This record gives sequence, structure tokens and C-alpha cells, in this order.
Amino acid sequence: MDLMINSVRPYAWGSRTAIAELLGDPTPSPHPQAELWIGGHPADSSVLDTPDGPRPLHQVIAEDPVGQLGSATAERYGARLPFLLKVLAAAEPLSLQAHPSAEQAAAGFAAEEAEGIPVRSPNRNYKDSSHKPELICALTEFHALCGFAEPAKVVHLMASLKVPALEHYIALLSWQPDEHGMRALFSTIVTLPSSALEPLLQAVVAGCVARLGDTRDPELTAHYRTALELAERYPGDCGAIAALMMNRITLQPGEALYLSAGNLHAYLSGVGVEIMANSDNVLRGGLTPKHVDVPELMKVLDFSAGDREILRGESDGHGETVYRTPVAEFELSRLVLTDGMVRELYFDAPQVLFCTDGRLTLESVDGNRVDVVRGRSVWLPAGAHRVTVSGEGVAFRATVGTAER
Ligand SMILES: [Zn+2]
Repeated sequence: MDLMINSVRPYAWGSRTAIAELLGDPTPSPHPQAELWIGGHPADSSVLDTPDGPRPLHQVIAEDPVGQLGSATAERYGARLPFLLKVLAAAEPLSLQAHPSAEQAAAGFAAEEAEGIPVRSPNRNYKDSSHKPELICALTEFHALCGFAEPAKVVHLMASLKVPALEHYIALLSWQPDEHGMRALFSTIVTLPSSALEPLLQAVVAGCVARLGDTRDPELTAHYRTALELAERYPGDCGAIAALMMNRITLQPGEALYLSAGNLHAYLSGVGVEIMANSDNVLRGGLTPKHVDVPELMKVLDFSAGDREILRGESDGHGETVYRTPVAEFELSRLVLTDGMVRELYFDAPQVLFCTDGRLTLESVDGNRVDVVRGRSVWLPAGAHRVTVSGEGVAFRATVGTAER
């Protein structure tokens, strides 16, 4: 087991304080810091601080896949870690997006390969052939748009704006308050030519401003504010109207959201620990200067509507809370240790332990000892078997899904 050196991705929507604070660096950081990548993604692999010097994790795995990943994981996923752990720090909204299913990803990747679109091309949708389920667990209050809301709620919210120009669109859903109506309304909004979209956006913004002054309903107010923020941040983007069709979710620290294939989502603000299958397959519908491919997004979107479940995890009564998902590639849990507690970690799969608070000590049966403090992480190869963890602190434990073992 070795401490990891992780890299920071400087996307424009990132925070200048959250990741720096976590790492103990000066704040504000000179550039926005959006994501801390903790894993073996070849684009930005963590580096292990080994007794023989620094070594990139993806290379260590490639040289000894069975020793590092265990035979079951190496057999199924080859010489690569099947999950990627991140800290995500959003000061501004991220793009409106969805991820393909395993079948859609395989077909999409094959089609783009056949068309000869280079993998690094900005208009490439499918960078690999894998699905990308993801789970976000809040470290601070975290705001997101996730999935389509109940048709009746969407109709009520849109009608509450009292915008005559919206009536024609609302009718698409009120006449057919189901998945088909939702598809009809969403596809109409995201394909509006700017000559129609611009005046509609202006009217919706004016409606939100007017209603903010005269309503006390917290749910409506949150939606109005979000639409206004999106319209201001991304002028002329249909995402501000699409946001009115989605569930507006607030996670408290420790609460998590699981995003399955086809679930339309946009993270708005906050800091969280995110785990995902090791894939880059994102289909965007707006709220971004990056490549947007609406027809491809429409192919993968899940239009089933309703509230999304907020996961609070299952506690084992000994300091560990597991966020269960149906995903084979990953499992995320949260360890909270108080002083004097010693926990034994048994496993036959690779693990990453990322400390978000306090100080923890890991000791293996062969006498290896590593101290991990807030902001640092440890790589535990599958072969490490029995490790005890003690101290006082909080850590996220990422490993392969239990469906694997
Ligand atoms: Zn996503």
C-alpha cells in the first residue's frame, strides 16, 4: 500500500477554494480547480509514492494486473482499474448531460470508429466502449438537476410563470402527461432555432423574476432561481428552460445520488466525492461551450419521470456506510472512525482510501504502515489482504462492486 499523488483538473467551472482547502494549499488557488482525480485513468493517472520512487498507478497495474487488481477483476476488466474516484468542486453549473448504457456505448463507439472520427476530436461522442454510471456523495450542500420531474409538476411550474409564449409548449405535456409528452416537449425545446428560443428565454426570465417577488413556495422559488442563474451564465442556451422540466435536488453532506444510464443531469454547485466507471462517454444537451449532440443525446435519454431517490447509505454499525448501486465496476462507502476504534479491512479487490477529515493510520499484517491525512489517499492492491485502519477521521473507500466478488 502506498500514498497517492493526485492531479487537479482546472476546468473553468471549478472552485478556487474547495480543493485547495482539502489539500491544505493556499486559497484562493491561482486557477479554478474543478476535479481531483484519484485513480489510474491513463489521461491523468495518480502517482504512487513507492519506496522505489514515484510510479504512475496505471503503469503499476499494467505491469502486474493480477497482483494489483486480483484475478477476478483483472480477468473481467483487463489491466486497468474499472473505476475512477474524483473530488468534484463546482463553483458554477456543469453541462446538461447523460451517459449511454453499455450496449449504446459499444454501438456508438463502433459507429464512430467506422466513420473514422479521431478519438481526440472535439466532436467525438464515444471516447471508449464502456458505459459510465456514476454516484456523487456530497461533502458540502450540493445542488443538482437530476432526471425529469413528474409531468403534473412540470406543467404546474411552467404554468406558474404566466408566460403566454410558453402555453403552446406546456400543452405538449399537459395533453400527454407521460414519457411521450416529456420527450415531445424536451425535443422541441432543445431543437428550437435561436429566432424562436431567444424571445422565449427572455419571456421565461421575465416570468421567473416576476414570480420570485410574489411566491413563498420554496420548491418553485428554487426552480425560478436556478433557471435565472442558468440563463445568466449561458445566455441563449435552452438549458434554462429544460431545467424547469427536471428534479431540482439538494444533497446534504453524506447524502448521495446515483445516476444510471440515460438519466439527464446537471450539477449546479457544491463539493462532492464522485465515483464512476472508468469511461469518458458524455452526451451533452447544453450549458456548455463543449460539443453538443442533441440527436445522439435523444437516443440515450430516459424520459421516465418522477422523484429521484436520495441515498443515505447502509450502515454496518461499525463506522462504515455503503452506498449500494447495481454497478459491477464500483462500490463507494464512507468510514467514520473515532479515536480508539480499530477496523480490519478484508478484501480481495483493489481499493482506494481517500481521507476527507482527520488522520488515519493503516497497518498491514506484514508490518507496512501508512498515515493518511485530510486530502490524501492510499492505494491498496488486491494482494494486500488484511489491513487495519485506526485513528480519528473520515475516509471514502472505493472498490470494485460486490457483484464482482
Ligand atoms: Zn455525468
